[in-house]
Amino acid sequence: MELKQINDHCFYFKGAVNIGYIKSEEEGILIDAGLDDSAIKKVLKQLDEKNWPLTHLFITHAHADHFGGAAYLKKKRSVKVYAPELESAIINYPKLEPIYLQNGNNPYKQLRNKFVEGKPVLIDQTCSDGSFKIGSIDVTLHNVSGHSYHMLALQMNDVLYAADSYFDEKTLNKHNIPYIIDGLETINTLEKLLTIDVKGAVPGHGDYEENFKSTVEKNIKYHQTVEEELLKIISREESTPIEKVIAEFCKHCGVKIENLTSWALYRTAVSAYIKKVVEDGQVEMTFEDNYLSLKRM
Ligand SMILES: [Zn+2]
Repeated sequence: MELKQINDHCFYFKGAVNIGYIKSEEEGILIDAGLDDSAIKKVLKQLDEKNWPLTHLFITHAHADHFGGAAYLKKKRSVKVYAPELESAIINYPKLEPIYLQNGNNPYKQLRNKFVEGKPVLIDQTCSDGSFKIGSIDVTLHNVSGHSYHMLALQMNDVLYAADSYFDEKTLNKHNIPYIIDGLETINTLEKLLTIDVKGAVPGHGDYEENFKSTVEKNIKYHQTVEEELLKIISREESTPIEKVIAEFCKHCGVKIENLTSWALYRTAVSAYIKKVVEDGQVEMTFEDNYLSLKRM
């Protein structure tokens, strides 16, 4: 976790998942807490060496790679923890993630791992979008849902901590099918990011960029391409069971599913794109022989 400085107040620890840091004289806010104890320990070590303050933790969304280290942090330090409404419920009861990933069933034990189930953390205060005060530091929170239900990006003056609202190019290409839970909200959020007036942004995965809006544009194009390819698969037959569409689409994208976690994540992501094309009227849902199926309009 290499510490990177953006300006006098804004920093981030660069890792597979970035951890943001905002500092004033007496207060320090971490933005997200990394995947596990080891990630947050590296951050604490560096803050301690510099004797920099740590008083608050803001969790952007309830994905284990962003809050998995929070339980350790809360045990070791007296920090006040903030998270968005709804996301807070999952952070308090992280078993909810494998539950929803498995269609509401009590999850298989293979789905109860640190990548989809962080350690529980009690949130001190939930928040929503708008102007907000963390300690004495003024920030603006932006609802950037689409990748998660109520993810919030945090703006401090002219720097945006964008969470997973967009991905850098490397991350986009690595996952082939980016993880989202709602295709329409994802696009609306990306378009909203283009209107936020800041000097630069740091995503949850990737580097701080002043020119982040061109990366956001690339994200929009990427999602549009995914949608076009998905529509081609749905158009192959008169109607196709949704599970077959998901499997065929993963194959088309070069994804080879070999465990329950990746099955659950890809299934959710492809379903999010399917939801979009159903909601915008390009595809119809039908029931054929008890299969939920998709039909091109
Ligand atoms: Zn995430």
